[in-house]
Amino acid sequence: MNNLKYKCLKCGVCCFEIPGDYQKRIPLYPEEVEKLIVIAKERNIRFQVIEDLVFPDILNKKIIVITYKIKLDNENKCCPFYSEEKGCTIQEIKPMACKAYPLSLKQEDAFHFQISIDPLCNYVLKYYDELTNINLDQIKAIFDEEYKNAELHLKKNKKLILKIKQLEHLNKIKILREITIDQFNDYLKKWDRVEIKV
Ligand code: SF4
Ligand code: SF4
Repeated sequence: MNNLKYKCLKCGVCCFEIPGDYQKRIPLYPEEVEKLIVIAKERNIRFQVIEDLVFPDILNKKIIVITYKIKLDNENKCCPFYSEEKGCTIQEIKPMACKAYPLSLKQEDAFHFQISIDPLCNYVLKYYDELTNINLDQIKAIFDEEYKNAELHLKKNKKLILKIKQLEHLNKIKILREITIDQFNDYLKKWDRVEIKV
């Protein structure tokens, strides 16, 4: 086992859109969005989000929103809180996903996530060979602080999913286990949004 210890290279790449067709996800919970809207207003900067993780509720004909993602469609194609000189300008209150990065939550299926290493981070690319096929204990040792933050992020996701399952159990909502892309897009077009928080 190597003695690798994660240290951000401060390249800023994770705060920028990825060139090409792939769209970057910087997920935010609704309460994180609310905080950032206030800061963006104070700083007079354009901050916009779009839905990220959603579930169509066919009982109430609503789209349940779990997370949003930051729109990176500005002139610089980067997070509006990023500064070339200072890097992230909201360090203390940056979203859970940013605190955990380069660890992220990989979606296994609709209701399950697991902590994984994002290969798009420059540190990860630099030490790609050493970081390939490492086990959980090694991930914890290398990404100490980030792993703790990723665990909090995962715990919050699990609580939200649990809340959805409880609401289903009480017959207050109904989430389809199988859905076509066309159905999904149709619901997205027609139905109002409702946020779920824990
Ligand atoms: S909140 Fe900070 S760390 Fe997260 S994407 Fe924006 S600038 Fe980068
Ligand atoms: S891409 Fe990785 S190394 Fe570069 S700033 Fe982001 S977390 Fe740090």
